[in-house]
Amino acid sequence: MHRSRNAKIIATLGPSSSSPAMIRALFDAGVDMFRLNFSHGQHDDHKKRLGAIRDVERDVGRPIGIMVDLQGPKLRVGTFAGGPILLNSGDRFRLDLEAAPGDSKRASLPHPEIFAALIPGTDLLLDDGKLRLEVLECGRGYAETRVKIGGRLSERKGVNVPGVILPLSPFTEKDRCDLNFGLEQGADWVALSFVQKAEDIAEARMLIGSRALIMAKLEKPAAIDNLDAIVALADGIMVARGDLGVELPPAQVPIIQRRIIRACRRSGKPVVVATQMLESMTTSPVATRAEASDVATAVYEGSDAVMLSAESASGKFPREAVAMMDSIIRGVEGDVDFHAPTNERDAKFRASHADAICSALRLVAGLVLAKATVAYTRSGSTSMRAARERPAAPILSLTPLLATARQLTPVWGIHSVVVENEITDEASMTSLACDAALAGGFGKHGDNIVIVAGVPFGVSGTTNLLRVATLSAAPPN
Ligand code: PGA
Ligand code: MN
Repeated sequence: MHRSRNAKIIATLGPSSSSPAMIRALFDAGVDMFRLNFSHGQHDDHKKRLGAIRDVERDVGRPIGIMVDLQGPKLRVGTFAGGPILLNSGDRFRLDLEAAPGDSKRASLPHPEIFAALIPGTDLLLDDGKLRLEVLECGRGYAETRVKIGGRLSERKGVNVPGVILPLSPFTEKDRCDLNFGLEQGADWVALSFVQKAEDIAEARMLIGSRALIMAKLEKPAAIDNLDAIVALADGIMVARGDLGVELPPAQVPIIQRRIIRACRRSGKPVVVATQMLESMTTSPVATRAEASDVATAVYEGSDAVMLSAESASGKFPREAVAMMDSIIRGVEGDVDFHAPTNERDAKFRASHADAICSALRLVAGLVLAKATVAYTRSGSTSMRAARERPAAPILSLTPLLATARQLTPVWGIHSVVVENEITDEASMTSLACDAALAGGFGKHGDNIVIVAGVPFGVSGTTNLLRVATLSAAPPN
């Protein structure tokens, strides 16, 4: 039976959630797509998880999405000779390319590209933003800095350079290797960390082709400056609040979250809100009121999906965290005052045939009190256009392609069913849609459904047909 919920749940798998039984329990509690985080773990661990997810998928007979998340160019300081160091505000501290372990006067920063991009006055953030250094002077392969905010610094901590577009490919050697592995294993989505500009997506597309959809993780100020161009090229967007809240003041995060969601809603790209949504549930079986409110806000704002990271990957209560998210989403969607924010109209927007048909779908489904809207899709695009309109009735997405069904799992309101037969004419389209709606429990004899498809059938990008049908169940014998 389908889930009676529109906003979707993505859960990260990790040490707390790798057994087949736990993966099944998380699916049962409400997970629509699983994330494998390649910043952690070995290929072998991920391979086992992938296999377990596909086993669950087969057992439950419903498509489940898998997203491979690439670490990206995460910058890190080197090691220290005598263990962690203490930096005091006002101290001078040097960063350079020397491989030698550091001390309280200097550290290795083995990334030549950064030094080339720094200018005096730039701030460097260390260890998730806990320490802050200001560049006083820099040259080829070194930077002299002054400590603005001090603290303890241990080896291999992350370095963020918020104000600067770094000339870094979003793909490190490790990423290329992880990407090949992930694609080979059949990932449905690939998430790119630290995207800075639209060209990063284009580069990814060259490598990935049509083998998986691309989720751009927005966690750099530069990405926010290039928001519309990135949204235009990516297949989906993640509001990656963990690093975003380090690169920018946390007070900016809710404002940017809302801006990103609106940009995605305008162009009909699925958008995921991620990180620290139920953070306290890493150690507690219940959420704080503020966390419940955070998840609810993301749903009220129109996100397609909300995501769990540490809560499900390494926390003590993965299943409870998924169940909590599920109940918060249901609460919001059951609120009589809740209307999923629809199409953010803007003057520049020019409707395609698919946009126009899907806009009519929403309207007609409302007028005939349809129990389901049915979209036929090969590439997934018709169903995504339908989802963009946020129709009041669930979207039953019918496709002959399992890969498409899996790719649509994080998209708002979509219930995918893989159909064996290609449709060849309007009569077979209508009967297949009615059968699927009845079989899925969306409606009963006498209920209306509204169908969108494209003629000629079986060709992507032709959405041009809208049909209203009434379900007729064969009388029981
Ligand atoms: P991460 O990305 O968990 O891979 O760092 C998400 C985020 O930064 O919010
Ligand atoms: Mn991140």
